[in-house]
Amino acid sequence: YEYCSSDKLGTVGCVVRDSSGLIVAGTSTGGLKVCYPGRVGDSGIPGSGTYANKFAGISCTGIGEKILRLNLARLVSILIEEGFSLEKSLEKALQKLAQIDGKGGVIAISQRGEIGYTFNTKTMSFAIIRSTTKQIRRSLKSQKSGQSDKKQLPLRNS
Ligand code: ASP
Repeated sequence: YEYCSSDKLGTVGCVVRDSSGLIVAGTSTGGLKVCYPGRVGDSGIPGSGTYANKFAGISCTGIGEKILRLNLARLVSILIEEGFSLEKSLEKALQKLAQIDGKGGVIAISQRGEIGYTFNTKTMSFAIIRSTTKQIRRSLKSQKSGQSDKKQLPLRNS
């Protein structure tokens, strides 16, 4: 991982809970810059970068080599299954990631209807859509300033 640059993270994740309670998660990534050809990151590995079961859906971004070591997505789901709130579960998981010098971010949704995110990268963009949402609010949050740049985006039916 010493050949990877941690300031160029370009991953898109999605976690969804539908009206019947079905939960799914997906993660797409271009990987990290300056890595060996054939490198396998965390994103496509169930339990590491992506995980969903009947309790929660989780998608991660960040330095894959660190996320893989923790099985970060599954770690969040185990904490939720053990009864921690989604917020607490994300907090604990990010602490573990930071303990191994990992940089990353996580989005999650729980069966209880909680929606959350956490990150220790410089910034992380996210959007939350509920069944009642009329407009998508995209947020770009910055860890350093604690500021968020919020924009209303039009919700399209197509
Ligand atoms: N986690 C991805 C990887 O290590 C990169 C990213 O999230 O930006 O391949």
